[in-house]
Amino acid sequence: MMLARPPERRGEAGEPCGCDRHPRLRIALWLLWLAVALGLALFAGHGLGQVPAPVTVDLTPKQLTPRVWYVQGDAGAVSLRNQGFMSNAGFVVADDAVVVFDALGTPALGEALLAQIRRITDKPVRRVVVSHYHADHFYGLQAFKAAGAEVIAHRAVRDYLATEAPALRLAERRQSLAPWVTGSMQIVPPDRYVDGDASFRLGGLDFRLVAAGPAHTPEDLMMLVEQEGVLFAGDLVFAGRLPFVGDADTRAWLAALERLAARSPRIVVTGHGPASTDARRDLALTRDYLLFLRSEMGRAVDEMLEFDEAYARTDWSRFAALPAFDAANRRNAYNVYLSMQRDALSGAANRR
Ligand SMILES: [Zn+2]
Repeated sequence: MMLARPPERRGEAGEPCGCDRHPRLRIALWLLWLAVALGLALFAGHGLGQVPAPVTVDLTPKQLTPRVWYVQGDAGAVSLRNQGFMSNAGFVVADDAVVVFDALGTPALGEALLAQIRRITDKPVRRVVVSHYHADHFYGLQAFKAAGAEVIAHRAVRDYLATEAPALRLAERRQSLAPWVTGSMQIVPPDRYVDGDASFRLGGLDFRLVAAGPAHTPEDLMMLVEQEGVLFAGDLVFAGRLPFVGDADTRAWLAALERLAARSPRIVVTGHGPASTDARRDLALTRDYLLFLRSEMGRAVDEMLEFDEAYARTDWSRFAALPAFDAANRRNAYNVYLSMQRDALSGAANRR
């Protein structure tokens, strides 16, 4: 694009500006020109929506084992302050390849994650395994596709991509994360689907993909790195913030948490919050919250109470101080209320 030209020095042919006699005025004029030019560039590039702004949040990876790192997003909901960095991603440096788990929540964050990987190793990123197709976990895929990686996800993602939901979410994120999710943002579909549990060996390491859905989403996929004892659990486990329930199947989610705990992984990388070295203890928040929602909303459905009334009478104090409570709790409760109402109705229908 064209930038505005710097102000011409007048004085010879035009009216005397006195610039030479006032060096400070000259510097001030140059600074003003720079500010205007930068502003124009930002407006043209980001405001109108092509080039995403680079992120300024800290993405320094934390090392969990000799070959496994992860980056931990902010504890809250999506905001301009966290620039969309409110979920986790990780990567595994194998002998001659890198495997990435999840791609974060904007193209700019994907670029930043790739740059962090590049600071640690120059081995090629061969695969990206995506835990599920929620915006905060896959919007950064473009950077990895451009670097030649193969994107792997569960088959159920195809059903989701066939709906209107991805385009609606993208439109919302172009508003809410405008400088970082721009008009150039593409939904990157998986290159390869897995139908259930699967495994592959790469760079001397064994990767086991565990189909954990339907739980948080129908397509939940976890990844166990056998030799390192690290399980990437995606959004089956939230730590340090209120879980996002969305249209989850909470009953199946609770069962999946039990199966996860039974595997006794040495380290669990959660979808949100710090990694855990005590899976049973650290999945308690997610489990307790889901159990609480089901018990309170289930009771309301049994008593044929309206949702608003049920919500108002529930004592949320156990969870109210958690980050993302204001953004997510009412929606979560409503979704669980609706799903339990559906279950009750279909149960009644089945009995007839
Ligand atoms: Zn998430």
